[in-house]
Amino acid sequence: MRRPRTAFFDLSCCEGCQLQVVNAGELLLEIVNLIDLVEFREAMSERHDGPLDVAFVEGSVTDEHAAARLREIRGRAKVLVALGSCASTGGVNGMKNAFDLAEIGRVVYGDGRRFFPTATTRALHQVVPVDYTIHGCPIAIPELLTVLKCILAGIPYTVPDQAVCTECKRNENVCLYDRGVTCLGPVTRAGCNSWCVNNGNICYGCRGLVSNPNEKGMLQVLTSRGISLEHVVRRMEMYNRCREEGPERAR
Ligand code: SF4
Ligand code: SF4
Ligand code: SF4
Repeated sequence: MRRPRTAFFDLSCCEGCQLQVVNAGELLLEIVNLIDLVEFREAMSERHDGPLDVAFVEGSVTDEHAAARLREIRGRAKVLVALGSCASTGGVNGMKNAFDLAEIGRVVYGDGRRFFPTATTRALHQVVPVDYTIHGCPIAIPELLTVLKCILAGIPYTVPDQAVCTECKRNENVCLYDRGVTCLGPVTRAGCNSWCVNNGNICYGCRGLVSNPNEKGMLQVLTSRGISLEHVVRRMEMYNRCREEGPERAR
């Protein structure tokens, strides 16, 4: 059977998710054995302008040039995968949406702002249909491999839809709230195996909001610790500012 013609592309992002792929070590061998890699700027110099079986797209859409590029990639690819939080939720680039675009242009680019027309940040699914989503900032390689195998088998991948706390509990971490630290695990979509908390950090909410967040429970925790809701919401907006646009409005 022919291996799927696969390419990696990037829009606005830090390229950290692609770097994860390049740094995947032995798993990278497993990945490249499953696909026919035709374009991946971070790892090879070859370019490919023809049809694609699978396109991994990292980064969010932050101007009209990126939207046009994404539509062009979508037009060539049978399967389009949103790679990482920038692509899946708008990620940190979404923070721009809290400000006036003209003001942003003035502050960031000064007199040169006419050369950098900017637009409201959008996740990929807010511009084109997306077939598979890999959350995370950065992505976790085992999840990429699972998604790739689903693509090869022609079956959907279901992103885990419970809170990070469920994984954190299974990993027997001491809850950060009991240490006087805030954490977004209670409202964030799992699937990373509570990666950050396992390594002594907080959950920043990079995988997006779980679809049925226990707002009441979260409020109770905050109130009992004297933490303001505003503080947590502000932190949540680091990765979830694009959320208000909603996938249904975009398609
Ligand atoms: S999701 Fe995070 S690591 Fe990946 S490209 Fe965006 S900012 Fe970088
Ligand atoms: S709030 Fe954070 S530290 Fe506490 S259980 Fe949930 S994920 Fe773990
Ligand atoms: S623990 Fe939170 S911030 Fe860290 S990878 Fe998981 S969802 Fe993202």
